[in-house]
Amino acid sequence: MASKYLSSLSKDDYLELTKKLWNIQNHKCFICEEEIDLDLNTTNIDHIVPLANKGKDAEVNFAVTHESCNKSKQDANLKIAKILQKLSKIQKSIQSKTSKSASLKDILKSYNGSKYEFKYKIEGMELKYSFSDIGDNKTYQTPIYTDNLSKEQTCFIEVPVEYLYHDEIINPRGINNSIGKLIKEFDKQNPQLHLSLARIEDDRLKIFDGQHKAGAQILLGTKKLVVRVFLEPNIDRLTETNTMLEYSTANCF
Ligand SMILES: [Zn+2]
Repeated sequence: MASKYLSSLSKDDYLELTKKLWNIQNHKCFICEEEIDLDLNTTNIDHIVPLANKGKDAEVNFAVTHESCNKSKQDANLKIAKILQKLSKIQKSIQSKTSKSASLKDILKSYNGSKYEFKYKIEGMELKYSFSDIGDNKTYQTPIYTDNLSKEQTCFIEVPVEYLYHDEIINPRGINNSIGKLIKEFDKQNPQLHLSLARIEDDRLKIFDGQHKAGAQILLGTKKLVVRVFLEPNIDRLTETNTMLEYSTANCF
């Protein structure tokens, strides 16, 4: 949608606004986050939140971008376009290095994740743990539940991304395009209804189900995720169930 505000500006005022936004953005394009050289690059000013989505036609809602980035953006909302652009960069780099699709592992790596072992102990039917490596020495404590039928023991904990890993054994596949929908959904502040599932292996918390949901949250800037942790699961059974569920609920990510 055209901007009344922008079309009311003289050429000089438009240039001045471009410079102002360019300074606010530390001379970087809002979408690709690469340098903009105002002498050499063609630029655009665009609404961050589109007018169609109730964005304001005012300076606070403008950003400057490379014209080419703006023309090839993957979403009308520049915040989403920026996230999708970042994801494309991760995808391309993994594809060129390994000729595989990027997975949650690669998103975690780019967002400060997968750094530390999970330190915990089991006392009775309680799990005790801390996140000491990131300076949080508090002892957290949470009940352990036993599943009536499978007898699997699980608990629900909030985990900083630094402690999350991707489970390549149970979930070897990469991220697909469905993550774009999830990013848009979570950006509307709709909640994550199904928790990601994790297991502990070699003292690492590995997400084996819900990598798209976890990835979308992390791409949107989430630093901690609530996950359901299986304590000492039967891997064959988990793999079998996970595969079955993915076939039967293929649209649920
Ligand atoms: Zn750009």
